[in-house]
Amino acid sequence: MKIFTCGPVAMFPAVQKVRERDVLYFRSKEYGQFAQNILSRLSSLLGNCEKQTMIPLACSGTGAMESAIENCVSPEDRVLVINGGGFGQRWCDLLKFHNVCFESINLKWDEELSEETLKPYFDRGFTMLFVNLDETTSGKLYNSALLHNFCKDNGMMLVVDAISSFLVDDFEMDKSGMDLVLFSSQKGLCCSPGCSFISVSQRMKEKIFSKKSYPSTFYFSYRDYFNNVIRGQTPFTPTVMIMYEIDQMLNLIKKSGGKKEWIKSIEKKATAFRNEASARGYTVPSYSKSNMLTPLLFSDFSAFDFTLLLRKRGYCVTPCGGELSEILLRVGHCGNTTEKDGIDLLDAMDEVRREVVK
Ligand SMILES: *Cc1c(COP(=O)(O)O)cnc(C)c1O
Repeated sequence: MKIFTCGPVAMFPAVQKVRERDVLYFRSKEYGQFAQNILSRLSSLLGNCEKQTMIPLACSGTGAMESAIENCVSPEDRVLVINGGGFGQRWCDLLKFHNVCFESINLKWDEELSEETLKPYFDRGFTMLFVNLDETTSGKLYNSALLHNFCKDNGMMLVVDAISSFLVDDFEMDKSGMDLVLFSSQKGLCCSPGCSFISVSQRMKEKIFSKKSYPSTFYFSYRDYFNNVIRGQTPFTPTVMIMYEIDQMLNLIKKSGGKKEWIKSIEKKATAFRNEASARGYTVPSYSKSNMLTPLLFSDFSAFDFTLLLRKRGYCVTPCGGELSEILLRVGHCGNTTEKDGIDLLDAMDEVRREVVK
């Protein structure tokens, strides 16, 4: 099966191979140093220069999102959310679940965030902005400079779910004024699912430590993680095997020439696919897109049924949920695929279309 999903993605053989290793005992100096080394390499890839401001969590991305709310939001905060699809909606659902008062900027699935959209939210007393840098449900990429300026002008903290953007789209945490960035192992990192990371700015770290109320989560209380991470430790058992995978993955990225080259190679795959798909008559929406995936718009055949037919031919692309399931499918560009694989996929898509679309 050729995998064009948006996470977990097709893994690299060298990364899969580390699963054969023995599990290192984690309460050891050796593991602590190993973990610290990974966190420090991840921090520099993320563009966060401050030390010991990244922690690992043993959960998928949504767990990391939930933990960010519990650890960072105080009762006096006024929260604003960019809700431009399924993952923006997830921020809203989580905030609602945790009884946080918030307002959301609701965008249609293909509607871009612009200066114009943000204008009515200036000087309204908001203290925090929650956003998904890439709204993976449609591949819509928000403008990080726009978000940065908005937050700076309004004295707001910027909380970013970069789950499908880290190591896929070019952004730097510090330079983009982000106060919390979270990502997980199974998207841009191309590893197994199950591990997430939280990186915070110095001022966010201070906010977390000075919060009067302790978060209502025991397992995900950041203060304990920050105290432990000084020794490369976590309060509870870490995902040792995924850390092995990440170590190997970071070696691959380094060997390829580093972060810039790595991202460029994904961008190249995405651009080649988009150009060829458009040339063959497929509709690629025009909003600004993450390199993570290409959305393809269907009007004459169910996009969801199309993904099933492709799977029968050995190609796994990503269907959409909810209101988009009939009209949109997503082709992932991250992971162990080549430009040629993308062209082969288009050949298979053409064949399916010839058979089913009258
Ligand atoms: C995948 C994804 C998530 C959810 O992650 P899980 O690992 O399924 O919990 C959240 N936000 C974005 C932007 C994603 O792409």
